[in-house]
Amino acid sequence: MIVYMLAYKLKVRGGVLVKVDPKNTSITCSNCHRMDRKSRKSQAEFHCVFCNHQDNADHNASVNILEAGRAFLAAEANSQGLSVLKGRVVTAVGKLKPIKL
Ligand SMILES: [Zn+2]
Repeated sequence: MIVYMLAYKLKVRGGVLVKVDPKNTSITCSNCHRMDRKSRKSQAEFHCVFCNHQDNADHNASVNILEAGRAFLAAEANSQGLSVLKGRVVTAVGKLKPIKL
């Protein structure tokens, strides 16, 4: 539903709508980008087991989604330019993956 609402706004105002796969965004630290289910202490609390970053779990996940969308746009800007994407709804490819240490 939210995608349809945003797509409507896109037609009115222009821009690019990037859909990001939310998989693993709730268990990945937005500070150090490492992934561990134990960092998700509760539905509301995120506390990274690696770097001690603490945040509201939804806020932490939303930062990860924002960064994934920005990374996608940066890669697209480098490869074909953003003007190709204007006025379109695009899906960011690739998923968050754990960092191997
Ligand atoms: Zn962390």
